[in-house]
Amino acid sequence: MTHAEILKANGLSQAELTGGTLAVRSPIDGEVVAHVHETDAGDMPAIIAKSQEAFRAWRTVPAPRRGELVRLLGEELRASKEALGALVTLEAGKITSEGLGEVQEMIDICDFAVGLSRQIYGLTIASERPSHRMMETWHPMGPCGIISAFNFPVAVWSWNAALALVCGDPVIWKPSEKTPLTAMASMKIMERALARFGDAPEGLVQLVIGGPAVGEALVASKDVPILSATGSTRMGSIVGPKVAARWGRPILELGGNNAMIVAPSADLDMAVRAIAFSAVGTAGQRCTTLRRLIAHNSVRAELVERLTKAYASLPIGDPRRATTLIGPLVDHASRDRMLAQIEKARAEGGTVHGGQTVTDGVPQGGAYISPALIEMPQQTDTVREETFAPILYVMGYDTLDEALAIQNDVPQGLSSCIFTLNMREAETFLSAAGSDCGIANVNIGPSGAEIGGAFGGEKETGGGRESGSDAWKGYMRRQTNTINYGATLPLAQGVKFDF
Ligand code: NAD
Repeated sequence: MTHAEILKANGLSQAELTGGTLAVRSPIDGEVVAHVHETDAGDMPAIIAKSQEAFRAWRTVPAPRRGELVRLLGEELRASKEALGALVTLEAGKITSEGLGEVQEMIDICDFAVGLSRQIYGLTIASERPSHRMMETWHPMGPCGIISAFNFPVAVWSWNAALALVCGDPVIWKPSEKTPLTAMASMKIMERALARFGDAPEGLVQLVIGGPAVGEALVASKDVPILSATGSTRMGSIVGPKVAARWGRPILELGGNNAMIVAPSADLDMAVRAIAFSAVGTAGQRCTTLRRLIAHNSVRAELVERLTKAYASLPIGDPRRATTLIGPLVDHASRDRMLAQIEKARAEGGTVHGGQTVTDGVPQGGAYISPALIEMPQQTDTVREETFAPILYVMGYDTLDEALAIQNDVPQGLSSCIFTLNMREAETFLSAAGSDCGIANVNIGPSGAEIGGAFGGEKETGGGRESGSDAWKGYMRRQTNTINYGATLPLAQGVKFDF
């Protein structure tokens, strides 16, 4: 399909795609595919007020009925999967199967949230007082602002929105300024679900388009009690304190610097496959991308040899072609940053394999690059930074303690894994003295999480949790209730206050 056909298949009209101030470029060929209209930051108070009004109605709708809206969203997403997946490829440059996979993730979280809508329950707790009962109930909080990054242009919204909506919270979404089209297309899908649902309050789901200034209005408003922000640590370091200072609840999903430890007993065939997918998939532009390989010195040389061979065979090019495995970086600035980091690593003693600009056999105008494998003498400052591109640093170790120390000695704490067949090593890695990350895997790479688990990380990754498990609690307020069904008024802790 041509760019124009993909835009049309997603129901985007010429009026929406032209005449605006925000130019949207496809990473495939750098072509400007639209000029979309930005939200005026001055309109944000009215948008937030509308969301508050929607909240007053939505919070009283029974949760299973709220779940029906998300069920319909899942149905509409199924019907639009091909078109939206193609638009993710067009706008974010993901290869076709990853574009479709992203929409599948949206469908999966909808299914999860529909089930959740009948499982929003709290505990009952034994009271120390006679004829008393204690319990906890979970209530909606209010509008949830969602600021998302370019690299998961639609899935991150759905992780937040599906949960927030069944939890009784309206949503206001500010996507990355690099990917407004996929957001506009997702809104159209949402609108079809809302139309079928029938009686949802106006303003329940809103989309605002623009850069940090538009996001800032959500960050600053006391009427947006939950602010979920996904992006760089730099962004989180600005947004997080601002939300906290107004007593809002931030959910921060920030950068990662994910590692794999490869132990002497590892199944190297599996490890090589896992490394290739997690280090170069999505052209190294996943928050969970493998960025550091910590290999036991007995297997390090063999791994590097096998990986350089594997890397050389990976097809780089047009992400729309079925055989392509590595598509473009999001833009030329991103490629320039990657090349600069490679030079820094070289100056720190790194031996570089790959990491070159590719111009043959790829669409002209896009930022195509071969993935880089860099053997490092130790973990330097450059290695400790997240570079959002396919650079894999390789370091050696002798003892598991040493490997764990290297793995944890970075500011970020998102995802991690170990390849080992040794049960003691695997369990140590998962123990309190092991990986300090929010995600820790055994014999699986660090990327490509399922939606059933809680997703997020520690330290500069921000501490937020989204998606499965009990992440829904982040979108609700907990209320502890004590009920006295007796005829006396005993006080807790035996306190006497008789008069
Ligand atoms: P980015 O930080 O440049 O932008 C992310 C979003 O924040 C955009 O919508 C942007 O407009 C907004 N923003 C930036 N400054 C802001 C401010 N001061 N106030 C309000 N909003 C502001 O990130 P990016 O380049 O789009 O995405 C890549 C980064 O995102 C990487 O660091 C990656 O690791 C991270 N990421 C993390 C997760 C996760 O779940 N932990 C998921 C995806 C991406």
